[in-house]
Amino acid sequence: MKREIYLDNSATTPLSAVAKAAMTEAMEIYGNPSSLHAAGQAAERMITAAREQLLAALGVRRGQGTFVFTSCGTEATSLALVGSAYAKTRRDATRILTTDSEHPSVGRVLDRLAEDGFEVVRIPTRGGVLDMDALTAALDKKIFLASFMLVNNETGAWYDVKEAFRRVKAKYPEAITHCDAVQGFLKVPATPAILGADLVTVSGHKLHAPKGVGGLYIASDMIKKKKIVPFLRGGGQESGWRSGTENTVGIAAFGAVAEDMRLRRGEIADKLLSLRAYAEEKLAALEVRINRPTGAYVPYIINVTLPQIKSETMLHHLSGDGIYVSSGSACSSHAAHPSETLLAFGLSAAEADCSLRISLSEYNTEADIDALCASLASGLERLVRIKR
Ligand code: PLP
Repeated sequence: MKREIYLDNSATTPLSAVAKAAMTEAMEIYGNPSSLHAAGQAAERMITAAREQLLAALGVRRGQGTFVFTSCGTEATSLALVGSAYAKTRRDATRILTTDSEHPSVGRVLDRLAEDGFEVVRIPTRGGVLDMDALTAALDKKIFLASFMLVNNETGAWYDVKEAFRRVKAKYPEAITHCDAVQGFLKVPATPAILGADLVTVSGHKLHAPKGVGGLYIASDMIKKKKIVPFLRGGGQESGWRSGTENTVGIAAFGAVAEDMRLRRGEIADKLLSLRAYAEEKLAALEVRINRPTGAYVPYIINVTLPQIKSETMLHHLSGDGIYVSSGSACSSHAAHPSETLLAFGLSAAEADCSLRISLSEYNTEADIDALCASLASGLERLVRIKR
């Protein structure tokens, strides 16, 4: 059987051995965590342990905030954004700051809030850098919320969210700060204290845990001051923050993975840095352009533009060789229009159409990069010839 080489880790990740072991164990714990008998209590204990693992991975101290399990990052962000909009008491606070390159789970929710009367200001991120002057110019007493992503899922740009939130809070301490840390959690420093974030979204399936589990950090102050309310209501699970019977198996795996990655963070980061350096060296020999952000960026996301070959065509060529990459974020891979994020980065529509995302995990090797570059080289040769 042909070996599969998975280089699409920003879309999702294969399950790690740690996740599989935790899931196997959790599958035996069948009780409903809301049930009062011993089987229910065992499930409840498992969730409590996983919550503590997530809070530790987020560097949250006791009393500082809580962690609510959701079904994914998208749901956690909806809880953050819609939940704070529902709770809003300051009638004059109507402005929301965000970037022009957010994931749709932020962007499309804010479109909806704009229909409800909020004024959404999208700060430019040209070259992968958050425009701090534009941010400062947009600060105004009408500020209600600022929602900035930590790491861009398509370009790997690592936005200076810490400085952005510092500027917001320095002038308007009551403004709510939300960070979509789905691509940065456990890979770059993402503690709420470092970021100055009241709300932080994370997701399990980007970290080798299964799909179907994510979560939101909520600062105690947000709860005390009633600045957020739940929107998924029902049986009152997750202390009322997210009704619905919990995905106990997914939650246990997310907790185990968070704990494991927290303890091995330095080792994983070193591995990815060296793999990135190797990939850059190999890609330099090919006729592709690396869309490197001009500011900070993470090693595990590499965006490249091909010479006039549609990314989809190359993606299918690579897939034929058992090599999996992406032509943008997974959620927009069915979209007919060029990626908004790549346009915001500064690419033309034609360049965006010819761009591929290669995303690495600690389980990739130099041999994977060699195979990718060999297939890219043969694809470039064949596809450019066909075009001529
Ligand atoms: N935010 C970012 C930056 C993402 O890359 C993704 C998924 O690709 C999400 C949010 C959504 O996360 P989930 O797939 O868990 O809903």
